[in-house]
Amino acid sequence: MPPRKRFGQHFLEPAWVAKLCGVLDASPDDTFLEIGPGRGALTAALAPRVRRLVAVEIDRDLAAALPSRVPGNVHVITGDFLEVDLDELLAREGQPLRVVGNLPYNVSSPILFRLLAAAGDGRRFRDATVMLQKEVADRIAARPGDRAHGALAIQTALGADVDRLLTLPPGAFRPPPKVTSAVVRLRFRPPAAAVDRAAFERLVRALFVHRRKTLLNALRPLADQLGRSAEEAIAQARLDPVQRPETLAVADIVRLTAAVL
Ligand code: SAM
Repeated sequence: MPPRKRFGQHFLEPAWVAKLCGVLDASPDDTFLEIGPGRGALTAALAPRVRRLVAVEIDRDLAAALPSRVPGNVHVITGDFLEVDLDELLAREGQPLRVVGNLPYNVSSPILFRLLAAAGDGRRFRDATVMLQKEVADRIAARPGDRAHGALAIQTALGADVDRLLTLPPGAFRPPPKVTSAVVRLRFRPPAAAVDRAAFERLVRALFVHRRKTLLNALRPLADQLGRSAEEAIAQARLDPVQRPETLAVADIVRLTAAVL
């Protein structure tokens, strides 16, 4: 079966499967959720080290071939990870899951947002070790003031600590993608300060639409919409109206959320 481009299929070479498995630090009590097992290279290496592994694969042909390639503690779900009923899955497994995936790059951001939203402060998903296009990994791990710092880093930093684990050249995959890849781990945890998440996300989206604006200009449309004064909200959050949104840390945006929404 030739790799299917529309599903972002780039299969990991054996030497890199071993490296990825090594950084997972798996223990026999763990239950893993693998997103996109493909031909099962990582699945077959990881399953013998853990209690159970649930693998969600969208490609029906690959999913059908998996059980014959992997140990008996692997449960295969055929479907789109973005549509899997996670409440049902977590209830069935009965313990926090660890997530792993060599993600299809065309849908890696929606998958990450789904994981962040569903992680339950680390009580539902403990961590997620994911292979991404290096640029996306840079955006996730970016710190305030970095060029790559934006909505993805802020949303991630609200609910997780991020570690960069590996960088992989295109030749680590068959067929090779056009880009360099990187593995990052998100360790989910509660936010450092209590915040209304929906309001926080609304503010983050509003602030980062036009990245190059000053904070005052970036905030004004949302503040106007809410009948609030952008100047007063910024002062109340002890921020500088002329700083750029990309210089804001999570704690700054938490204060601004409370001031404006
Ligand atoms: N894990 C395999 C490996 O490392 O060799 C395959 C990785 S490949 C980059 C991505 C895999 O995710 C493919 O098998 C693809 O069919 C699957 N996939 C793509 N979109 C998906 C989705 N929305 N839900 C679940 N699996 C998906």
